[in-house]
Amino acid sequence: MVTTHNLGFPRIGAKRELKFALESYWKGESSRDELKALGAQLRQHHWAHQAGLDLVPAGDFAFYDQMLDMSFTLGNLPQRVRAFHGDTLDNTFRVARGRSAKGLEHHGACCDGVAAGEMTKWFDTNYHYIVPEFTAGTEFRLDASRLLDQLAEARAAGIKAKPVIIGPVTYLALGKTKDDADKLALLPRLLPLYTELLAQLAAQGVEWVQIDEPVLVTELPAEWKQAFTTAYAALGNGKVNLLLATYFGQLQDNLSLACQLPVQGVHLDAINARNEVDAVLAQLPQDRVLSLGVINGRNIWKTDLNAVLDWLTPVAKHLGDRLWIAPTCSLLHVPVDLDSEQKLDSEIRSWLAFAIQKLDELKVLAAALNHGHAAVKDELAANQAAIHARRSSPRVNNPAVKAAVAAITKAMGQRSSAYALRAGKQAALLKLPVYPTTTIGSFPQTAEIRHARSEFKAGRLDEAGYKVAMQAEIARSVREQEALGLDVLVHGEAERNDMVEYFGEQLDGYAFSQFGWVQSYGSRCVKPPILFGDIARPKAMTVEWSKYAQSLTEKPMKGMLTGPVTILNWSFVRDDQPRSVSCYQLALAIRAEVLDLERAGVRVIQIDEAALREGLPLRQAQWQDYLDWAVESFRITANGARDETQIHTHMCYSEFNDIIASIADMDADVITIETSRSDMELLDAFDNFNYPNEIGPGVYDIHSPNIPTREHMEQLMKKAAERIPAARLWVNPDCGLKTRNWEEVIPALTNMVAAAKALRAAN
Ligand code: GLN
Ligand code: ZN
Repeated sequence: MVTTHNLGFPRIGAKRELKFALESYWKGESSRDELKALGAQLRQHHWAHQAGLDLVPAGDFAFYDQMLDMSFTLGNLPQRVRAFHGDTLDNTFRVARGRSAKGLEHHGACCDGVAAGEMTKWFDTNYHYIVPEFTAGTEFRLDASRLLDQLAEARAAGIKAKPVIIGPVTYLALGKTKDDADKLALLPRLLPLYTELLAQLAAQGVEWVQIDEPVLVTELPAEWKQAFTTAYAALGNGKVNLLLATYFGQLQDNLSLACQLPVQGVHLDAINARNEVDAVLAQLPQDRVLSLGVINGRNIWKTDLNAVLDWLTPVAKHLGDRLWIAPTCSLLHVPVDLDSEQKLDSEIRSWLAFAIQKLDELKVLAAALNHGHAAVKDELAANQAAIHARRSSPRVNNPAVKAAVAAITKAMGQRSSAYALRAGKQAALLKLPVYPTTTIGSFPQTAEIRHARSEFKAGRLDEAGYKVAMQAEIARSVREQEALGLDVLVHGEAERNDMVEYFGEQLDGYAFSQFGWVQSYGSRCVKPPILFGDIARPKAMTVEWSKYAQSLTEKPMKGMLTGPVTILNWSFVRDDQPRSVSCYQLALAIRAEVLDLERAGVRVIQIDEAALREGLPLRQAQWQDYLDWAVESFRITANGARDETQIHTHMCYSEFNDIIASIADMDADVITIETSRSDMELLDAFDNFNYPNEIGPGVYDIHSPNIPTREHMEQLMKKAAERIPAARLWVNPDCGLKTRNWEEVIPALTNMVAAAKALRAAN
């Protein structure tokens, strides 16, 4: 008999209950007990949804983040919060976000207002964890209470619970040392706690513990491989069975290592690492469990159950009771329940599965393997019909788009002339001063804008009325920019709710859910649009707004677009074609928009690639392949423009060291990046590489409400000029201003323009 289990369940709630409860607690509007009760209630719901599985995760629920919870379990808190006392939950929030609830009566003076822990993306997902901090002196102290409490709760609910913890090697590998300490030197201090934790779980009669070691799908230096051997020699032979969980990718050169560790079972992502199943079967000792992740925990598509059964049935025959099946990874990365969707087009909906539906699929697979296909004949037939319908739907397949992608030529990605020649033509046309000033695109999303949009969506404001309201906002930002004396203006993006959704809504091949929320960090969620079909642009998407904005000013008005790679990386994408193909389709759609803007007289066009870096694969060995098609997609989008049209791109980060050649290869005339916090040091990558085109290193940290002074920004630009010739520098903020308010933006940009003027005078 195969065993079914799950690695983790989304904790935010089908209606984002956890988000709202957290935010209400932080605002001081509800009590800690209410928040804890809501957490307990969510866990009960989530367990109820998983009750049909043979083993259900416990301890996967976190009020903020599972890594942070592990830090608390191990007693590893940053030095600055070690003196914190009082409720653990409040301390969790203090570490996570700098503070707990507003006006928390006690501990306000002693445990409030501290630097928040650093946040980083969890592997190649859009989930962010709180980075554990280490120093050479870090000491650990076990606190198993959270796990034991959740375990007891699960049991009381009649659930066959499998506690989930982060393994010691992954825990260390994902942390950061604040001094030059060697993280691995901490391993011997950590292992006794893990041993003790496992012993405590065994004492509760726990049979299996899932121990997550996803770093096994990354490139590991020899000493980190050795750490696995050391760690599991210590942990693997206790009273409780360990399921070593890997996910998101292939084991590659860690495959033998993973198979040899003295654990009782290994979980493999059998979608991303399908090609490794045979090797694992061959190498895994005969007494071990093999858990295969056969349902994709990273996308929202129905699984082709018949296809899975085709390859899984012989494996099940071979392994017998030793085969477990599960989703590939925790379902944290998918929305909770498709049944919540009321407005989704019924055809598209029939192709989808969210977390709860994915677990239903798992049960069908298990029934087919355990009792024969006939036992679930109807379910398999219905699944086959849905898979077939999706595959052959004319809404998915647009032959004209496929033909256009097939007809892409190298020349389409090439500007007519080299940068130096273009720069001359653009200068003659735009007549900009040295140190030209601009902004990144959005201006504050005011209450009026949000109100008009929600009225429009609710049908209480008609299209004409909505247009008038947005035009008024555009006119306002143009007025403000003229008064500020900026050189290249933007229309302000009032009409855009989100830089990806705005385009997705106007492209064929995209669908939108109502409740498809996925946790990004803490209480923050994103609702990625669903890219389901070949992408086509029925009509121009931004031209009317840009033309209107340009009509209000003599200054150049930047056309503002989101690039194909960013649209792709922030969507749920198709699993029936390579990401690169979807990206090329997006590139052709945005390219058409670039050409339309140009025809409408727009002289400067910015194509944002905020998320280009996020798409880098887990293993460095695969980076170049990704960069090749990502950069080519950008080039196809942008480089059909005439020499005279100045192409800008923008990226929300500044770590370019390892990808600078690809960034240069995009050949944008101007790139604006985030640099204000790093004191311009991050420009070294551009300097060392001799980056040939123009750069706008951000001088205004838009993530902070602080108003930067003229002197400070001038100083930053002087540092920039030590690295990049002044003739190729622009002066601009780090990113868009939509999260700020006008009261902050006006003085900050006044100072920025003054800084540029002072630099010109001194030039
Ligand atoms: N043009 C977008 C804006 O200004 C860019 C946002 C981003 O880079 N994240 O809001
Ligand atoms: Zn940005």
